[in-house]
Amino acid sequence: MTLLDLDIRTTMRLLMIGNMAATVLLIAYTQHREQKRSIGIFVLAKVFQSIAWLLLSLRGEISLLLSAHLGNLLLLIGFSLEMTAFSRLTKVRRPLELAFAAITACASILVWIFPDPSLWVAIASIATIGIYAPTAVVLLVPKNASRLQVMIGAFFLASCAAHVVRAHSAFAHGLALLSTTAIQSLTFLSAFGLTLIGGLGFLLLMNEDLERELIAAATVDSLTGILNRRAFFAKSEIALNLAIRNATPVTLLMIDIDRFKNVNDTYGHAVGDAVLASFAKNVRLHIRPHDVFGRIGGEEFAVLMMDSEAGGLNVAERIRATTETLHAGLPAGLSYTVSIGAVTCIPQSVAELTTLLQLSDEALYQAKDDGRNRVRTSHNSPGDTAPAHDTVA
Ligand code: GH3
Ligand code: MG
Ligand code: MG
Repeated sequence: MTLLDLDIRTTMRLLMIGNMAATVLLIAYTQHREQKRSIGIFVLAKVFQSIAWLLLSLRGEISLLLSAHLGNLLLLIGFSLEMTAFSRLTKVRRPLELAFAAITACASILVWIFPDPSLWVAIASIATIGIYAPTAVVLLVPKNASRLQVMIGAFFLASCAAHVVRAHSAFAHGLALLSTTAIQSLTFLSAFGLTLIGGLGFLLLMNEDLERELIAAATVDSLTGILNRRAFFAKSEIALNLAIRNATPVTLLMIDIDRFKNVNDTYGHAVGDAVLASFAKNVRLHIRPHDVFGRIGGEEFAVLMMDSEAGGLNVAERIRATTETLHAGLPAGLSYTVSIGAVTCIPQSVAELTTLLQLSDEALYQAKDDGRNRVRTSHNSPGDTAPAHDTVA
């Protein structure tokens, strides 16, 4: 008896127990969760797998119809559901669900057609690869895949490799379901590992997903999809630190929609909301990904532009000029303008953010005083005392 000579029947029963334990824990966990549907699918997967392992482990003791045909079918349905639950977390689901259903149906039909139990082993292994491999790819491929996601995808692929060896062995030399060979032991060890990794990995991935949603809810303004006030200040501090380290200039724009109250009064609050969203979308077209853009009040926005001396003011002017022409999705006849206050400096300390905000705010009020729909620049830098303004637009 070598280290890898597992007793397959016992291993199957352990797999059944492992899946049942996961089922019970997940049902308890589902009680207060938002992502109930994914967990529900996962629980169902575990139930199917538990029953399947029980039936498969009874090979020779119950009819082949139950042990082979039903056992294989339930196992593949269980795998399909488990991988569906995983793929739901990556948002690629429809094509995979269809593929899993097709693979499970084909494999079950083939098990019916061919009477050779060795072929059943090969068919089950190939079907398992067909279900696990695409899910692994979906987990591994996205550019923003988390380390956890990549690890789980890699485990799935490793298990597929074990099944490739098993399928080959079954085809080439014949392999009975309960035979004790190194390849069988390897496959069942990987199945055991997958039960642990699948359960734990699924919960951790769901937690990651939830955390992402919570962070987004806490930092993103739901109407415009840009940073909210708190996140704008937090990100601006980080950006300012970077500018201090690199001794590069930053430009802060304070933007306020002109006579926005009139828009609401004339067209209604919903149209006002649409204006805010379309304005934010337009600004995004004119700034770079590392600029910090947020909605800091009702119809007030701020942009902290990095590495931008004169360029920052050009962007401000472009935002002002293009806003006048934004009509898409808005009622006919509705046009609106913005006033912008700008200040540029090479920051010396993070505390200057407050002064930058104050100076750009003063410049903004100057723009309003001067008749709106214009950009005004503060000629002061955070170290100066008296503000002075200059016409840009
Ligand atoms: P000014 O040119 O001086 O800036 O005039 P204004 O009308 O834009 O300024 P005021 O501060 O008087 O009005 C701002 C309006 O913005 C009032 C408020 O109802 C509206 N507002 C604030 N938040 C929202 C929002 O989320 N949605 C909508 N539709 N309106 C909002
Ligand atoms: Mg306004
Ligand atoms: Mg305002």
